[in-house]
Amino acid sequence: MSGGDMLDFEIRPNPTPVSAVERAALLAAPGFGRVFTDHMVTIRYAEGKGWYDARVEARGPIPMDPASAVLHYAQEIFEGLKAYRLADGSITMFRPEANAARFVDSARRMAMPELPPELFVDSLRRLVDIDRDWIPEGDGASLYLRPFMIASEVFLGVRPSNEYLYVVIASPAGSYFSGGVKPVTVWVSPDYTRAAPGGTGAAKCGGNYAASLAAQAEAIEAGCDQVVFLDAVERRYVDELGGMNVFFVYDDGTLVTPPLTGTILPGITRDALLTLAAEAGHRVEERPLSFADWQADAASGRLREAFACGTAAVITPIGRVKYPDGEFAVADGGQGPVTTALQQRLVDIQRGRAADPHGWVTRL
Ligand code: PMP
Repeated sequence: MSGGDMLDFEIRPNPTPVSAVERAALLAAPGFGRVFTDHMVTIRYAEGKGWYDARVEARGPIPMDPASAVLHYAQEIFEGLKAYRLADGSITMFRPEANAARFVDSARRMAMPELPPELFVDSLRRLVDIDRDWIPEGDGASLYLRPFMIASEVFLGVRPSNEYLYVVIASPAGSYFSGGVKPVTVWVSPDYTRAAPGGTGAAKCGGNYAASLAAQAEAIEAGCDQVVFLDAVERRYVDELGGMNVFFVYDDGTLVTPPLTGTILPGITRDALLTLAAEAGHRVEERPLSFADWQADAASGRLREAFACGTAAVITPIGRVKYPDGEFAVADGGQGPVTTALQQRLVDIQRGRAADPHGWVTRL
């Protein structure tokens, strides 16, 4: 692709889509990440040629040579966002251009080519359009979109690949909100860190998640739901969870969240909540918070609420915190009123039940 002109997609509808009856059965209880739609988007890239061969085609295996670079050196990035069906039947996505921008940032960090943001958003539109019957109905249900890019050149050697494959797949996701999200217990990992200064913490690359799995296993072993990572230099400041950013709510109404210094993922939910919290009259502070302060402020009662946030579950209250030497509760261990209000406000905008003053909702 040259300049700013848009790539044309070749549309090859799946000749054997899932039947309507079978689809309805799958959509009745899709869970998360196990059911997939009939189609996928693929776009190729070659050094010197640019982006080419954009397709919407039947979802299926991607033939790969065992020497494909991604399999050895993990040059891979991805994104995650949701499409919704609103009460009036219209279909929307939440801030896809923010995911497009983050995909560009991730690509840069991993020495991969930048997919033009318009092409990224166009690829999502095309997949959601052809697979629109896969968007589940119901409050909290959505179609989860997973764009990703892999180094596809066949070679062994540590250097950026000369060829890449961009793919989008989609997976219907059930409601997280029936009965609300249960407060989680988090594990503060004493041994493992997630991202060092100068590392890849701010990029959404698969390697970050592979590296988090041993810590997450430790969390499960300790009877917790999720791991919280501390900074890699002093092991003192709270960074984020394995797949969510973290917020703290104080008794004077102040919200505190760790700053974007390169070691945490710049969450789009985090960004939206900072805006909405300020609009609701909260003071918001992006600043480091030490684990010692988290503990002390919970003990003194100044810390009223803590929550994690991300695309998957929007907001998850943090009820208890465990670490090797002990554990403590945040307030009464339940979901607090600020958490509930912010969650409601964001979900109302996402679902078209409230006005969208920031232009976050993109209609198909
Ligand atoms: N941190 C990490 C490590 C994540 O994987 C995610 C999920 N993408 C988030 C934070 C939350 O980001 P977002 O709000 O954009 O989903």
